[in-house]
Amino acid sequence: MSALTLERPRSLKAALASLAADPSLMPIAGCTDVYVGLHFGTTPERRFLDLWGLKELRGIGVDGDALRIGALSTYTEIIQSTLVQQRVPMLVAASREVGGAQIQNRGTLGGNVANASPAGDTLPVLAAAGARIVLRSQSGTRTVPFDGFYTSYRNSIRTPDELVVAIEIPRLQGRQWWRKVGTRRAQAISKIMMAAVRGTDVRIGIGSVGPTVITATQAAAVLSGGGSIADAKAALLSEIRPIDDVRSTGEYRATVAANLLEQFWRET
Ligand SMILES: Cc1cc2nc3c(=O)[nH]c(=O)nc-3n(C[C@H](O)[C@H](O)[C@H](O)COP(=O)(O)OP(=O)(O)OC[C@H]3O[C@@H](n4cnc5c(N)ncnc54)[C@H](O)[C@@H]3O)c2cc1C
Repeated sequence: MSALTLERPRSLKAALASLAADPSLMPIAGCTDVYVGLHFGTTPERRFLDLWGLKELRGIGVDGDALRIGALSTYTEIIQSTLVQQRVPMLVAASREVGGAQIQNRGTLGGNVANASPAGDTLPVLAAAGARIVLRSQSGTRTVPFDGFYTSYRNSIRTPDELVVAIEIPRLQGRQWWRKVGTRRAQAISKIMMAAVRGTDVRIGIGSVGPTVITATQAAAVLSGGGSIADAKAALLSEIRPIDDVRSTGEYRATVAANLLEQFWRET
C-alpha cells in the first residue's frame, strides 16, 4: 500500500484542478470496482483521487423536467429516494439487485457508469430511460446522451480530465420493467439483464450481450409499430452480439434475451 498515493480534494473545483494537472490520477468513488482490481493486481494505476467527500456530486433532485442524480449517489440512497421510486422504479429494482448490502451502501451510480462494464446493472436502465450523462472538467461542463457515451468495450467518450458529475433522467411515460438473470439472487454478476419502458413508444436497454450496453432500437421499433413479438425477437437477435465467457455462453444469452423480451411484453 505504501506504493499508492491518495489525494483528497476538498471541493469539486480542487478535484478538477488536480485532474487537469495530472490526468493519470484515477478517480475513486465507492472504490468497490477499483479495489477488486487492486487486489488482483489488474489495476496498474498508483495515484488516486478520492471523490467521496465532494458534496457537489451528491444529492438527488429535480432539475427542470429531469431527475438529476448526483454521481456519488449510492444504491442505498437510490433505493430509499422517494423521487427515484416515483419516477424511475426500474432503477430502484436494478439497485436492489446490485451486490449485497455492503456494496449497495458504498457503490455509486457514477462509478457504475464510469466503470463502463457491459455487465453494469444500472446501464440498461439508463439506456431504456434515455438518460444523459453530465461531465465536467476544468474547462467546462458537457451533457451527453447515454446512447452515445460508450465507444467500445470498457471505453467511453469521457476524457481523463473529466468527472461524471450527475446522471439526468427525463420524465418517463409508460410502464417500466426490469429483470436481471444471474447465477443466484444476490452477489452475482449478471449473465444478462434487460430494462424496458412501454409507453407510446417502446425503449429497451440490454446488458451483457455485447461489448457495451445495447439500446435495442430495432426490436423497440417493431413493438412500437404494432409488429409481432416473433418479429421483435428476431430483430433483437440481429442487434445483440453475445459471447461465451466465464459467466455464460453466447447461445444461452441469445435464448434468454429473446425470452426476456417476450416476458417484458407479456407482463406490461
Ligand atoms: C462483491 C461485489 C459485488 C458487485 N455486484 C455488482 C452487481 O451486482 N452489479 C453491478 O453492476 N456491479 C456490481 N459490482 C461492481 C461495483 O460495485 C459497481 O460497479 C459500483 O457501482 C461501482 O461504483 P464505485 O463508486 O464503487 O466505483 P469505483 O470503484 O470507485 O470506480 C469505478 C470506476 O469508475 C471511475 N469513477 C468512479 N466515479 C467516477 C466519477 N464520478 N467520474 C469519473 N470516473 C469515476 C473510477 O476511476 C473507476 O474507473 C460489485 C462489486 C463487488 C466488489
